[in-house]
Amino acid sequence: MSAAAAIEPKSLVEVLRSMAETLRDLTREFPTWSLPEAEVGAVIGQAQQVRQLSHSLTAVLAREADSRGLGSDDGLSRTDWLRSQAEGALDGPEAAAVTRVGAAMNEPRWARLAERVAASEVPVAHAAAIVRLHDDVARIADPDHLAAIIDTMVEECHVLGRRELARLVAHARATLKPPAEVESEEAGLRLGRSFRRVRSCAGFSVFELRLDPEGAAIVESAVDALSAPRPDLCLDGGVGEVDPRTPATRRADALLEIVGRGVAAPEGVTRSPRTTLVVTMSLEALLEQVRGAGLLDTDAALSPSAVRRLACEAGIVPMVLGARSEVLDLGYTQRLFTPAQRRALAVRDGGCSFPDCTVPPQWCDAHHVVHWLFGGRTDLLNGALLCGRHHTVVHQRGLTATVAATGVTWHL
Ligand SMILES: [Zn+2]
Ligand SMILES: [Zn+2]
Repeated sequence: MSAAAAIEPKSLVEVLRSMAETLRDLTREFPTWSLPEAEVGAVIGQAQQVRQLSHSLTAVLAREADSRGLGSDDGLSRTDWLRSQAEGALDGPEAAAVTRVGAAMNEPRWARLAERVAASEVPVAHAAAIVRLHDDVARIADPDHLAAIIDTMVEECHVLGRRELARLVAHARATLKPPAEVESEEAGLRLGRSFRRVRSCAGFSVFELRLDPEGAAIVESAVDALSAPRPDLCLDGGVGEVDPRTPATRRADALLEIVGRGVAAPEGVTRSPRTTLVVTMSLEALLEQVRGAGLLDTDAALSPSAVRRLACEAGIVPMVLGARSEVLDLGYTQRLFTPAQRRALAVRDGGCSFPDCTVPPQWCDAHHVVHWLFGGRTDLLNGALLCGRHHTVVHQRGLTATVAATGVTWHL
């Protein structure tokens, strides 16, 4: 406070100019080779402090500009005005972030954030991510739930790196959306899936595959599991050679292997549980006692009904979190149909058990009529084969069925 009081308002620009001059001289002329080793790191740390402080000062001034409406006379957006003032030192996204934070700092709702940004305790980029999350979901989220999450972020975000905060924001975004909204978004994206041959060239066929987050995660986890380098595929069989295939070639080979296995699998038994798709969500959300969505490794969100459907099948591990975010062990054997059980279901149901569906057994999922989450047993009288499409329908609508030794009757 005392140093600030000593600066005449008019001379702020002079003070900064001379600091910049000093830094410029230091960068250009300081004999860095003469620094003791212990100081090299310390100087880097201080230089980053200067950077963060100058960002904070920029945000404080952006707040001032916002309250005075600067730039609007020239017909410039606040962001463009800021960029023009920064003389090329701010790129578009940075300028947008500073503008967003500056404007928020003028609102009573963000008083605490404004205080922490001005004190340089919270990086401007972090503050921008938090304000943006709030702006994006404020219309649809439960206000108390949103306020609790935002307030926690404002207090705790300084310990997080940029990536960690981005993950947290993605998770919050997913949990704050009403499940119905996530579900209808999912349905829309699922309809947007496409796979087509784009063109042929030089003897190759080029395909385009467009997938929603769930589809993409399934393909990626399956392909990843099979696309590790295999030195034994080396052309001349030499010892200690590396796999001659590029990563892209290995992924193509993996995809073909998966398709080949699917086609060649004996009736009713496919899906070796070697691919693992990890979905994280709380047990309460899964049981639909609270609002929430599942989160894939890629941070894509899934509705509770989609997670329950995925959890019916082998190879997909729902990482269900208990109250204190510890992973609950829901038991592998208790929830998966064995190959023998799948063969029995294939014989009994003859394919998808949904009325009038003709999809053969090898393309079906083994669905728990009473979900194992709700105590349903993994035995034949609680199992029903369903194709992917009808499996989705059954979980979305929460359909029930009666299972007899002779077959399944769906209650539509
Ligand atoms: Zn199911
Ligand atoms: Zn079907």
